[in-house]
Amino acid sequence: MNVFIALKADLENILAGKVLCREQVSAEAVTTFGLGAPLPLIVEPRSIEALSAVIKQFAVYGFSPRILGHGSNVVLPDEVVSFPVIQLGEAFRKFTLVNNVSAGELEGLLSAEPAALVAPPEGGAVELLAFAQTNMMMLSQKLTKLGLGGFEYAAGIPASIGGALYMNAGAHGWSICNCLRKLWLLNARGEIEERQGENLNFGYRSSGLNDNELIVAGLFVLQQEDVEIVRERRRKALDYRQATQPLQYPSAGSVFRNPSAQTGQEGKSDALSAGKLLDDCGLKGQRCGGVEYSTLHANWLIRVAPEAKTADVLSLLAEGKKRVQEKFGLELHSEIKFW
Ligand SMILES: Cc1cc2nc3c(=O)[nH]c(=O)nc-3n(C[C@H](O)[C@H](O)[C@H](O)COP(=O)(O)OP(=O)(O)OC[C@H]3O[C@@H](n4cnc5c(N)ncnc54)[C@H](O)[C@@H]3O)c2cc1C
Repeated sequence: MNVFIALKADLENILAGKVLCREQVSAEAVTTFGLGAPLPLIVEPRSIEALSAVIKQFAVYGFSPRILGHGSNVVLPDEVVSFPVIQLGEAFRKFTLVNNVSAGELEGLLSAEPAALVAPPEGGAVELLAFAQTNMMMLSQKLTKLGLGGFEYAAGIPASIGGALYMNAGAHGWSICNCLRKLWLLNARGEIEERQGENLNFGYRSSGLNDNELIVAGLFVLQQEDVEIVRERRRKALDYRQATQPLQYPSAGSVFRNPSAQTGQEGKSDALSAGKLLDDCGLKGQRCGGVEYSTLHANWLIRVAPEAKTADVLSLLAEGKKRVQEKFGLELHSEIKFW
């Protein structure tokens, strides 16, 4: 029997009603770039207990846990992958204001109806618990309306909270780790672990977490501020994005990390922005198959034709790296995760 069919049968047997297994899921359905072969098996656990059981069953079959959030930074290969993928289900799209949450309370909060999100009248700092599959853009919008500052620069980043934490997503000098108090993850043995934000090894677009550590929720500290001030910061961030990014095309966002960020000079030197370097090497508009370096922003590869392949992305990526290395002696590193 095919290993995925056997694994699916086992999971449905052990976790009846607590897991959803989807076979042959297209790249368009689960990634923003929409490139590559369909995923043979996506497993959606509906609770933390079910996620733990899924991780253990994967191990029985010799698979490491691999998780997909909203697929906005992942590109799938053109060949069918040889592993199953976990994606947290609808239950994990939940957030609520809390006080002193412990790991033992998470499962209860996950299954409970979340309380309506209302800013407390006294002002000051509040704590927000967000489960990993929560849509970060939607969260940014809701918090801004309440004048709760912390996520306004997340506007326009099409991430799940788990993916944003794993990647330490950010923009305009803000990163999600700035407002994180702690997070909870399941380790490769399926056990829950609590990690304080200050003990994590966050860096530029990186959390320092291992690939097999699956984030289930984050606890964030938000500041209550004047609604108009928070709204203005968010509006400016969105306007800038609209003006500078080719948002009408499928993509995975920026292709390369900014070399300035790697040298600790993020935002200080335009000369070390990957977009500027690629532009200076004449890559804007360069096309391979159905993929192209955007003419609006050279650090974005966009899908311009339906026949586009991951091989086209890899070829353009290699060309960009080569030209920047030759002209500037700088090595660019991909920000996109290629599976
Ligand atoms: C239009 C567009 C604009 C973008 N703008 C920005 C931007 O301004 N700033 C920025 O930083 N990024 C940006 N990105 C890139 C992307 O949105 C971020 O990297 C985001 O954090 C990825 O989140 P995701 O949920 O889509 O993760 P995925 O793409 O699904 O996964 C990315 C990585 O995170 C891991 N992961 C996902 N969920 C979990 C979890 N629960 N636990 C552990 N690991 C997990 C995956 O295994 C994978 O390694 C943009 C992308 C697009 C398409």
